Amino acid sequence: MNHNPVIVSGGGPVGLVAALALAEKGVNVVVLEACAEIPTDLRAGTFHPPTVEMLDTLSIGQELLKLGIKVSEWQVRDRKQGLIAQFDLGMIAGETSYPFRLHCEQHKLSRLAYQALQRFPNARVLFGHECVSFTQDEECVTVQVTSDGVTRNMQASYLIGADGVRSIVRKTANIEFEGFTWPERFLVFATTFDLKSCGFTGNAYIADPDEWAAIFVQPHNGPPGIYRIAFPIQPDQTDEEVLSDDYVQSRIQGFLLPDQTYDIPYRSVYRVHQRVAKNFRSGRILLAGDAAHVNNPLGGMGLNSGIHDAMNLAEKLTRVLLNNESTTLLDLYDRQRRLTNIEYVQAITIRNKKMLEERDPEIRAQRSQEMRDIASDPEKHRAFLMNSSMINSVRRAAQIQ
Ligand SMILES: Cc1cc2nc3c(=O)[nH]c(=O)nc-3n(C[C@H](O)[C@H](O)[C@H](O)COP(=O)(O)OP(=O)(O)OC[C@H]3O[C@@H](n4cnc5c(N)ncnc54)[C@H](O)[C@@H]3O)c2cc1C
Repeated sequence: MNHNPVIVSGGGPVGLVAALALAEKGVNVVVLEACAEIPTDLRAGTFHPPTVEMLDTLSIGQELLKLGIKVSEWQVRDRKQGLIAQFDLGMIAGETSYPFRLHCEQHKLSRLAYQALQRFPNARVLFGHECVSFTQDEECVTVQVTSDGVTRNMQASYLIGADGVRSIVRKTANIEFEGFTWPERFLVFATTFDLKSCGFTGNAYIADPDEWAAIFVQPHNGPPGIYRIAFPIQPDQTDEEVLSDDYVQSRIQGFLLPDQTYDIPYRSVYRVHQRVAKNFRSGRILLAGDAAHVNNPLGGMGLNSGIHDAMNLAEKLTRVLLNNESTTLLDLYDRQRRLTNIEYVQAITIRNKKMLEERDPEIRAQRSQEMRDIASDPEKHRAFLMNSSMINSVRRAAQIQ
């Protein structure tokens, strides 16, 4: 098909999945990735049922399913009281063919998508290429790209900004990133200690006013996998302090066996925001993933909603470019994905964080009781899972006209 390519700024998981979804339909696509290779640090690592369903429409779906760990039960715990409630995704097996969270490091999805893209003559992934600016008119977007110190122009039919939280595409388009940044940062580390031996399922959230935590098993190099744990750290704590062996050990000893020394092969610190771009479309510019919205990781929704953007946008861009359908479809993309991010992803992740960190003992006891009640009533249990597994947000998006 003879059209200027769609250029994707950013070869993270969202940009690469968007590119693959376009390439598989026959759209010409070029991915610009500033880094020399796919980063392998431990970031998001859980895929909810609708995300697995979407990814399974691509050629990489079955491969991803083989790489991941299927986690069908997850827990809400209290640091002092232990298990509060356990949720079973098998309860919504009538609503999805994928009644589990698929746990897998995001860089493995990126690599699969990158390898698949190499099989398409209509797709190119350019590492070490940074999108530095663009201009657009009615016909096309002219993207300025720097590589090896040389800047040149590339023509695109559309430019997708999938270039992460600091998106140069969003900034150049002058699109406001509305919301706030949490004062505390998150310490993320991983241990090879098998938390199953202490009664944990592959995904658990621990409530505590100061030391709440989120736990996700990741496949790593094979069973039993590696447990990735996120903790809050206070604004006055330095990276040096929180990344030290003593500090990390004290954090993990605080909720596991106090006398044991744990193997900690990975640790990092990151800042967390709740922000949504004021528009996901400006003419021929479209935002997706972290460039369009960011949230805290409690509920594992950030990357998932980015993949939902990628798939939604690829479907609409394909119809515009290959079927000559109206570009108003791209405004529908904005309405569907932006609204559901605000109504579901932002609302749920903020509520999750408040629930885990609640200080008032009475409110905490009340919330724990609510969780027990939900888990023990099959109808409430199912209704709760429909929201937390993001099925409702995807269905709601599909209803928006
Ligand atoms: C340390 C850390 C831990 C995290 N943990 C969790 C978690 O536990 N749970 C969760 O849900 N989410 C987590 N996240 C967020 C999650 O990783 C993101 O939601 C996800 O990576 C979004 O994917 P993306 O492709 O939109 O953006 P990114 O993964 O940020 O990818 C953007 C890509 O664009 C490239 N790029 C940037 N600027 C340019 C440019 N100008 N030109 C070309 N390329 C460019 C970058 O190099 C990068 O590869 C974490 C993030 C971090 C940083």
